[in-house]
Amino acid sequence: MKLKKGDTVMVTIGKDKGKKGKIEKIFPKIGMATISGVNVYKRHTKKRDEKMPGGIIEHTRPLTIAKLALICPKCGKLTRVGFIVAKGEKERMCRKCKQKI
Ligand SMILES: [Zn+2]
Repeated sequence: MKLKKGDTVMVTIGKDKGKKGKIEKIFPKIGMATISGVNVYKRHTKKRDEKMPGGIIEHTRPLTIAKLALICPKCGKLTRVGFIVAKGEKERMCRKCKQKI
């Protein structure tokens, strides 16, 4: 996986283009991720009974990972993720500053 939970990303395509946020949850099987504060829908719910008072529920919808670009935590630039293999382990690397991320 090129991206992981906690990464700061920017949306590059679509109606949320230019928005930034942290990855809240990642769904590797479907290639999607939810980003805090991006693609949030508010749903108004009606009062059903005393236990469910109703109100506004915020729901973050996942976005396709292909629409996201990583913001490097080291250099702060929009970058693509590269990989380096060190001691048999794959590590992520920023293509801009060449640092491990
Ligand atoms: Zn970097």
